[in-house]
Amino acid sequence: MHKFRKSLAFKLAFIYSVLFTLAFVIIFFAIYYMLEQALTQNTKKDLLDDSVEIVRTYKKGNIEALKTYISNEIEGDGPANKLIRVFDRDGHVVISSDIAFWGNLPVPSYPDLDRQRPVVRSVRIPKRPGLEARTVAFFVGKYIVEEAVPVEWDARLLARLRKAFGAGLLLTVLVAIPSGWFMARRSSEQIRGIDRVARSIAGSADLSRRVPLRGTEDELDHLAKTFNLMVERLEHFLRELHDMMDNTAHDFKTPLTRIRAMAETGLGTTNHEEIQGTLVQIMDECDRFLFLLNAIMDISQARTGILSLEKKELPAEDLLAGIGSLYSSVAEEKGIRLNITYPRDGALVFFADRKRLSQALSNIVDNALKYTPSGGTVAIWAHAEPGYTEICVADSGPGIPEEKIPRIFERFYRLDTSRSTPGRGIGLSLAKAYVEAQGGIVTVKSEPGKGSTFCIRVPV
Ligand code: ADP
Repeated sequence: MHKFRKSLAFKLAFIYSVLFTLAFVIIFFAIYYMLEQALTQNTKKDLLDDSVEIVRTYKKGNIEALKTYISNEIEGDGPANKLIRVFDRDGHVVISSDIAFWGNLPVPSYPDLDRQRPVVRSVRIPKRPGLEARTVAFFVGKYIVEEAVPVEWDARLLARLRKAFGAGLLLTVLVAIPSGWFMARRSSEQIRGIDRVARSIAGSADLSRRVPLRGTEDELDHLAKTFNLMVERLEHFLRELHDMMDNTAHDFKTPLTRIRAMAETGLGTTNHEEIQGTLVQIMDECDRFLFLLNAIMDISQARTGILSLEKKELPAEDLLAGIGSLYSSVAEEKGIRLNITYPRDGALVFFADRKRLSQALSNIVDNALKYTPSGGTVAIWAHAEPGYTEICVADSGPGIPEEKIPRIFERFYRLDTSRSTPGRGIGLSLAKAYVEAQGGIVTVKSEPGKGSTFCIRVPV
């Protein structure tokens, strides 16, 4: 019960019901008050109008005319609906309409009645318990006139209104509580869904669970979507981490075994020169191993989205001039024509991490020069397209069979035909990871025997 009272659904339902009921009560009182006022004012106005008429009649024809007026008035309205009495100063009744319906409505005393101003009052009718009459008293010559009308209809109307209000209030409470509860349950269902999934993840580390979406596009649906996205990223992250650990263990076995074998060879000899040679080999192997380790770490970080990037505006000019100075002598030595074209006015700009983009491009250019035989050409160019800037490297090398294209981006994958060329099969997977971490893509077009074109696309 305590838990139930603490629940969001209960609090929402409670607030909703209270507000709903409160609104109903306020509206009722406002209507009731306005109606009561209007009815009172209306009766008062009728009484005052009559008093003016009575004064006028008296002035015209004295007490006789007043008598006729009164009997005509009572005949018109009915003796139960109007009572007119005329008193002298000592309180003796001079004229009175039929008082049978009015009980023994006592002779009123008006000690402080003003000559100028009529007095309007509410009085109880003795023979009709609970009912009220409204009276007006005023001076007419030397007499005091009192006219009374019952406010029975007004009272009945108000009583009916009060009854209707009671029923309405009951209905409101009956409707407000269940509908408030229903709405609150609906709103909090999504939150409970998120809580359930979060608990199951915390309890079992099962990241495959998701919060079902209702498609209402409200804040809670957005929260559920964001939560699912977060779990999805976490799942991806853990999968990458898992893969990395699996692969790393596998990838490290070979170089470590090699290093150990070398060390063993070194231990088996006393020849100083042989030992020196083995140590140099071990150092080389360690360098390669370190390179591999860094590359694997970078690929994993890039793929899980945790690689720190320093994105800046990078003119294509700078990037390609650097590539030119790095590779022109390699191309020349190998007898390959290296053709680099780019706009030299600084208009073409990449928005990227300089170090990572240069590394990705270098790996692609390195491959183009490595796999293109002597006498071939390598062309590099950069251009802008709507939404992205692109840099392409085309070679006249052996090309790549279409079905193998997706595989060349896998770690350590090498085409059989490339085995005679030195390489570690990691350059393209690193290039792809670096480019994709910046929101870009690497595309390849190739035709065996004719050459390959690799392009790096970076969004602007
Ligand atoms: P590496 O070049 O060190 O072997 P990469 O990851 O850079 O590793 O490339 C993977 C494989 O893709 C290469 O071994 C090669 O078989 C193929 N490849 C890459 N670039 C080219 C190219 N320009 N022309 C032909 N084959 C290529």
